[in-house]
Amino acid sequence: MSRVRLYGNRPTQCGYCPAKRPSHQYVLEAVHLAIDDYQALIDRGWRRSGMHLYQPDRQQICCVPYTIRLDTKHFKPSKAHLRVQRKLDEFLEDRHTSSKKRKREPADEDGPRAKKKAAPSPLLATLQACLKTAVMAVLESHGADVVAAGAALHTKIRVLAARAAESDRGAFSSPAAHAVCAYLNKATGASHIVANVAQGIADALQLPPLTTVTAVNGFLNFHAATESVASNEAPTPQLPPTACEAVPDATPTLPRQKRKWELETIRPANTPEIYEIYKAYQAHVHDDTAVTPASFESFLVASPLPAVPGSAEGSFFQLYRLDGELVAVGVVDVLGDNWSSVYFFYKPAYASLQLGTYSALREIARCGSGYYYMGYYIGNCTKMQYKARFTPSELLCPVTQTFVVATKDVLARTDADASQCVCLAPAHGVGDSSDGVDIDGIILHFPDGPVAVADNKTSLHPVVLDHLRDFAAVVGPDLTRRLGVQMY
Ligand SMILES: [Zn+2]
Repeated sequence: MSRVRLYGNRPTQCGYCPAKRPSHQYVLEAVHLAIDDYQALIDRGWRRSGMHLYQPDRQQICCVPYTIRLDTKHFKPSKAHLRVQRKLDEFLEDRHTSSKKRKREPADEDGPRAKKKAAPSPLLATLQACLKTAVMAVLESHGADVVAAGAALHTKIRVLAARAAESDRGAFSSPAAHAVCAYLNKATGASHIVANVAQGIADALQLPPLTTVTAVNGFLNFHAATESVASNEAPTPQLPPTACEAVPDATPTLPRQKRKWELETIRPANTPEIYEIYKAYQAHVHDDTAVTPASFESFLVASPLPAVPGSAEGSFFQLYRLDGELVAVGVVDVLGDNWSSVYFFYKPAYASLQLGTYSALREIARCGSGYYYMGYYIGNCTKMQYKARFTPSELLCPVTQTFVVATKDVLARTDADASQCVCLAPAHGVGDSSDGVDIDGIILHFPDGPVAVADNKTSLHPVVLDHLRDFAAVVGPDLTRRLGVQMY
């Protein structure tokens, strides 16, 4: 059973704006924390920092934070996201484009830059033709006007030679399903899911020998035995999305890739190599020069989540290596299909690669079909705007404790006045926030053993009862019964 110590409502400073105005946050220390209980806490707006859980007091803060999560099943990378991926690909290929030249090039995938690629292989041309036929069959099966659709989509139905060291891409990849899905939604007025459209195209594909296709996150990834690095090598197997316990990504080195890019997932550890990057990042990005190995340990290494050997759940470090050199670390909590991003730090020398966005895309791709929790979103906070660009995302309504799709209208409500805690849900009174506070179900743990509050109300000090009422109010009735309270 999960057990927490109560730290109460503590004074702090707003950490989200330069004003650093006084604010308050409710703090718990988790002694043990079951995955399900942690998930329930996140879904009530809590965040984790080492062994501590905190929830800003939204009535006493200048920047009200809303928990934001991405629906990964329906995620579609934006052009800006694809640019980040391409930038890293180019870096790995050692293709240096001068910044002047880069400025003149359009940001669009279909721009002249795409034409500078090496001459397409015969297989690529074959795949292109197969894809077109399969897409037309899918469009027809949905009742779309094939001629009009073909004209509208002809530049979008493309197969690209994969240049990234991406384990989840084959030698060739196509984003065509995203365009087909958008077209179908517009043409039919129905709401199609890109993953289903991609699967439909994959099923309709008639591929050349020794070529296979997988549909992952709406992308079609082609694996061709004849075009992989070593011609006698089998296509790279797909890793199950959450099989991440100390498993290095099976990263194929593509012919044009000059630098080696690897991702390794380990349990959190305070090694000199990792700590040095954290220290450099804090000093460079946050102007924080007071870090110590002990502060790093308590902030990011310590975790109350179970670390069962062989389990894909719990807290992990994702280590990104370039030619063997550690360049970035993502700290994540894996909760079944859901991933929660805790922190990310990188070597300041690699800031131009936008590794923060890259790692988020990587984590989203690996979190399967669940939600990707991106921490807090604050209206009008420019540093947080990037989170809302991962769509479709949802914000937690602090009044009803329900998630609400982050439409333009909902985001505008948080932007109107960042210091006002606003109800985001369409109807009030949906959640449990108006329920009376009941502390009878709480189990207190003393050195001598557990006791139920219900049986000992008269012997407990009024101050203790007040603390328990505050706790019950802030975690809600369900977690009040699930979280044991450690009294020593
Ligand atoms: Zn503030």
